[in-house]
Amino acid sequence: MEYICESCGTLLMHSNQVTLDSMKDVHSQLCSVKRQNIATPVPQVPQKSTPNVQPSLSNTPSPSQMPNSPSAQQSTTVASAPGGQTTISLTGNGTTYSKIEGPIDPEFRSKRQVKGTFQGIKVWGPVDPPGQLGIWGTEVTVDFDICVADGACIEACPVNVYEWLDTPGHPASEKKPFMIREKDCIFCMACENVCPPQCVKIFQKGQ
Ligand code: SF4
Ligand code: SF4
Repeated sequence: MEYICESCGTLLMHSNQVTLDSMKDVHSQLCSVKRQNIATPVPQVPQKSTPNVQPSLSNTPSPSQMPNSPSAQQSTTVASAPGGQTTISLTGNGTTYSKIEGPIDPEFRSKRQVKGTFQGIKVWGPVDPPGQLGIWGTEVTVDFDICVADGACIEACPVNVYEWLDTPGHPASEKKPFMIREKDCIFCMACENVCPPQCVKIFQKGQ
């Protein structure tokens, strides 16, 4: 009886089958070719590499592009104060210092132009802050270049139309009665009547 190793081709022969089987076992354990084949690593099938999926930076909206992000809201917020839009500054490098005598010119609306707004309140020029601030208001109007800030109008107003506004650097006074709630005016004329330099002019609706 014989046995041929399928790995190395070695011929084993013996008359006794049991002995031949033992010889096969020993050979299979010692066969160098067989052991080499076992040790040879199985060729690896190239794996398709899975792309490392990362969010594209170019397609990722920046914080400012996120519709509900704070910065987006910030970028679309119009500069405005509680009373409305502000386009007039109280500070600047102006060289005009305008401290003039009253009374306010009652015809100023036909002689001056609106230069902007402060918290929604109209400001009539000329304006050259901090020394020249013009006339403020639409119906409750005050010539800020005349006002001496004695506070009589604020005390007289029954509906709190005015509040103090700091105007540092103005030659007549460094605070003014700001008519932030002029829409609340009831046209009692008290402020106009008590103003010492007569720098207040009230225009009733339609005037
Ligand atoms: S007219 Fe009367 S209600 Fe109007 S701002 Fe002057 S004091 Fe106030
Ligand atoms: S009463 Fe006339 S001067 Fe006095 S704070 Fe009012 S607007 Fe100015």
